Order: sequence, then C-alpha cells, then structure tokens
Amino acid sequence: MARYTGAVCRLCRREGQKLFLKGERCYSDKCSVGIRGYAPGQHGQGRKKSSEYGMQLRAKQTARRFYGVQENQFHHYFEVAERKQGVTGDNLLKILESRLDNVVYRVGFASSRAEARQLVGHGHFEVNGKRVDIASYLLKAGDVVSICEKSRSSEKIKAVVEANSAKPVPQWIDVDRDKLSAKVINLPTRDQIEAPVEEQLIVEFYSK
Ligand code: SF4
Repeated sequence: MARYTGAVCRLCRREGQKLFLKGERCYSDKCSVGIRGYAPGQHGQGRKKSSEYGMQLRAKQTARRFYGVQENQFHHYFEVAERKQGVTGDNLLKILESRLDNVVYRVGFASSRAEARQLVGHGHFEVNGKRVDIASYLLKAGDVVSICEKSRSSEKIKAVVEANSAKPVPQWIDVDRDKLSAKVINLPTRDQIEAPVEEQLIVEFYSK
C-alpha cells in the first residue's frame, strides 16, 4: 500500500484526536482538530456511533498513523509482538517505540515523526557510531543515537534541535544535548509510553 500523501490533518480529524503529525503547528491554535473537530468529508458531521469492529479498526488506524507505519509493516510488527513472551499489546507498543525515527522525534532531534523519517533517510544519524539511514531500524537497550559529525553544522539540523530543545524526553532515553546524542536506557514499559493507543482493541482486531 502506498504512503498517504494527502493533508495529514485530515488523519487526525478522522481519528477524532491530535496525532501530532505536523510539529509546531500541532501545539498552536491553528490545529485543525481544534478548529474543525469532526471527521473530514461530506458525512464527517453525521453518524458517530461505531460498531465493535469499527472501534477496533479505528484503534489500529490511530496507532498506525500516530507512528507513521504502513499497513504491511504494522501487521508484521503485530505478528512479531504475538510471538514474543509477555502481553502482545505491550510488545507491539515497545516495537513501535523502538523505531529509530520515533526515538529521533521523542528526543527532539526532529519536530515530527515524518521529519525524523526524512532526516534519517538522508543519512543524518548514527547508531553506535555507524550511519543508519533506515527509519524503521529497531533500537535496543544500550544503543546510542547521534547526529552525524558532518550534519551538526547543517543550519536545518541546528534549527530543528534548537526549536525542540525544551521538549520533555521520556524517562527511558537519556539525551545529551551538548553531544547531540541520546542513549536508550531500556525499552519502555507501557506506563512510560505516551500514545493515544488502545492496544487491546488492536489485538482484538487482528485476532478475528
Ligand atoms: Fe493533527 Fe497536528 Fe494537524 Fe492538529 S496540526 S490536526 S495535531 S497534524
């Protein structure tokens, strides 16, 4: 399935909540969810009641859109989560959080996950000293993500890092803003993950 290239604010409106897909704008009064808090399209303001399947589908789509993951890859993550020991929903969230683009965004080296994906794809980041340009690269406890030496002088990177310098960083990541690096202390537990995700509904969705 091709990547969605339409207006991303429509995705938030469709899910009825902020998914923080646009960086700074999401925190301003220009956010479309605040201005038009109903689903897009002709019937957006119509019937709101949802079936059980509808709720499960929306939970899956919300998570997928929040993390910017395509359907096939999301399903693959679910299968991996199911095979692991522990609670499938928690495992799924842990995998999503451990993506390189997510960590780059969480520590404020990008303003949105989409921007993080782009910066990673352009080769601006290293993991444990080696350049990695795959946004879906899964990090482990102990991994260190840093901005490549060459990219530190880039005006764009400097501006992004500066704009996000006050952003709160999750407990499971230790960021060093002087060295422009971040260490994954451990993969997060469910209570350390701030995400509008109802993982139990996703498990039910895929268990049909
Ligand atoms: Fe979603 Fe951000 Fe657009 Fe608001 S501004 S609708 S949070 S992408």
